[in-house]
Amino acid sequence: MPAPRVRFAPSPTGFFHVGSGRTALYNWLFARRNGGVFILRIEDTDTERNREEWVDGIVDAMAWLGMEPDEGPYRQSQRAARYAEVTDTLWEGGHLYACDCTRDAVLARTAGNATPGYDGFCRDRGLRREGHALRFRTPDEGETEVHDVIRGTVTFRNETMEDFVVARSNGEPLFVLANIVDDLDMGITHVIRGEELLPSAPKAILIWHALVAAGSVGEPVGEAGRGEAARLPVWAHLPTLVNEQRKKLSKRRDPVAVESYRDEGYLPEALRNYLALLGWSPPGGEEKVPLQVLVDNFALEDVNHSPAFFDVKKLAHLNGEYIRDLSADEFAERVLPWVDPGAERAAGRWVPESAGAPPWPPERFDPAVFRRLAPLVQERVATLGEAPGLVDFVFLEDPYVDEASWEKAIGCDPGAVGLLDAAIHAYGHADWTAEALRAATVAVGEQAGRKLAKAQAPIRVAVTGCTVGPPLFESLEVLGREEVLRRLRGALERARVR
Ligand code: GLU
Repeated sequence: MPAPRVRFAPSPTGFFHVGSGRTALYNWLFARRNGGVFILRIEDTDTERNREEWVDGIVDAMAWLGMEPDEGPYRQSQRAARYAEVTDTLWEGGHLYACDCTRDAVLARTAGNATPGYDGFCRDRGLRREGHALRFRTPDEGETEVHDVIRGTVTFRNETMEDFVVARSNGEPLFVLANIVDDLDMGITHVIRGEELLPSAPKAILIWHALVAAGSVGEPVGEAGRGEAARLPVWAHLPTLVNEQRKKLSKRRDPVAVESYRDEGYLPEALRNYLALLGWSPPGGEEKVPLQVLVDNFALEDVNHSPAFFDVKKLAHLNGEYIRDLSADEFAERVLPWVDPGAERAAGRWVPESAGAPPWPPERFDPAVFRRLAPLVQERVATLGEAPGLVDFVFLEDPYVDEASWEKAIGCDPGAVGLLDAAIHAYGHADWTAEALRAATVAVGEQAGRKLAKAQAPIRVAVTGCTVGPPLFESLEVLGREEVLRRLRGALERARVR
């Protein structure tokens, strides 16, 4: 079998959807597994809905996920001449007719019809071509079969297929035409894409047959071999992604933008791993799968056809595991865009624009101090974006006090004042290491008849403002004696006033 050629063919009409990420990835995995070519094709014929920034978003997201194309990006907007040529061929072959029906007129006429869609009103009116939308005359009899690796053979009765539009009245080609012409010219062997596009496959097949019969095989694009070009691709329609309610992921309801996962501090290797398992899994059923294992095992035949649940919680969990796998240095480096965005931006590096700046004044951030805390943070976060919230108490002049934490650990604890007082005394002369501070706190607790956890709680809230956070004694060590005592005294004062 010649090297397969696959394409990812997004339309640049919005953020890069996780579903598109999964489609791109399956194409990429298939190409890598089979020594094939992975092509990026930007389907930008819809000038009203396309924006250049979305094209950049696609290219960036793919680079970030490590799926750079072998060929392309090709742009449909640059192939208008070829689509015009194909439209001529189809017109001359009698496959098209002109139509001047408005959408409303069609709806009014066809309401209540057994077969939905266009009713063929203009089929034999003989309207001239110029200035009119062009429809493809679908056969009235017979069937069109879509051979799909994932779904088997899907049969469409031709009489149920409406005469679909292939070109607008201004001559612009529609998706179904440009899409299949490109697949033909680019020598695409496998069309791997979302299942919502399955209904357009039989239309594409009809156009394909008409073109091949007319001998209209265009200039090969890229490394496409001419001999291959007249062969229909193998289809593979991937299962829909659904949310917790088993509804199709929606741009409005669900977090679907790859860009926002990146901004929140998901690692590309974690997201890629997660996306790979939405509809397929390698033998063994593991959740965390190295890239090479994905590549070595990927097979379209094994892709599931039932909807795949895009579970953000599972993704976050997996991301945390990937974060734990980083070396301490790597973690400290990769989290910088979230904890020190000013310096990163100044160095010309990427920062998560939508994540907002960390809560401390930038000049109070100390990279050396952060580096000491970083391993503690690494153990606790699910995303890199959670890091500032775990260390803000260190870089803010005074910690932000979570009032619920305060009430629980100090306000409602009659022993808290005595305990804070005892801690101030003990910390005044303790060796300033996490271990010694821990021992000192155990001793303070014993005096008060408390276990360590109970003794720690008021101290933690006094120093960090919150009942949860990185390990206390290491944090105290990093903050330094003076600052810890200052905060303990401040809290004691506040607790006494009440
Ligand atoms: N451009 C189409 C879309 O974004 C996909 C076309 C295809 O993969 O065949 O939905």
